[in-house]
Amino acid sequence: MDYYVKPLAHLIEQFEKLPGIGHKTARRLAFHILDSPDVHAEEFANALINAKKLVRYCNICQNMTDAEVCLICADDKRDNSVICVMESPKDVMALEKAREYNGLYHVLHGAISPMDGIGPEDIKIAELLSRLSSDTVKEVIMATNPNIEGEATAMYLSKLIKPLGVKVTRIAHGVPVGGDLEYADEITLSRAIEGRREM
Ligand SMILES: [Zn+2]
Repeated sequence: MDYYVKPLAHLIEQFEKLPGIGHKTARRLAFHILDSPDVHAEEFANALINAKKLVRYCNICQNMTDAEVCLICADDKRDNSVICVMESPKDVMALEKAREYNGLYHVLHGAISPMDGIGPEDIKIAELLSRLSSDTVKEVIMATNPNIEGEATAMYLSKLIKPLGVKVTRIAHGVPVGGDLEYADEITLSRAIEGRREM
């Protein structure tokens, strides 16, 4: 059985809680921290606390920001007649990297998944619908992941949005089915947006 002094054991435990980190890696990281200068450990700790404290959701699109409204929503050069709906801020980052899309976003923070007990009220759907009450938005692109949950969410939203007179499109399947958008390469993502079809 492993034996560590309490503060070290505690540190290892914290690293082990992170996704993809097993006990061995957690131990290696903890020892690394202990071996590094105090100032590095402090920077690391402060970065954690500050990120948690300062990063919040944009009042408009629910993407991550450190202000009330994110840089994309605040940018008047972006086309505010199109909203691209995505499951996670990581998806937005992936599409932004491709530099092809110039509209706005809406981040749902998940997808509808009855199996996991996630219903429409558990993701940012109400916030999306409230953005459509003005006549500014002409098209909503469903760029949820091409898996069961993502498709179900796109269908559900399309049924809600179409009666509002807003065009609803679905990204093309340039993205591997069952895959995650955040892992798609930039060209694939750009093509998926370009090849979108009306739902
Ligand atoms: Zn925003």
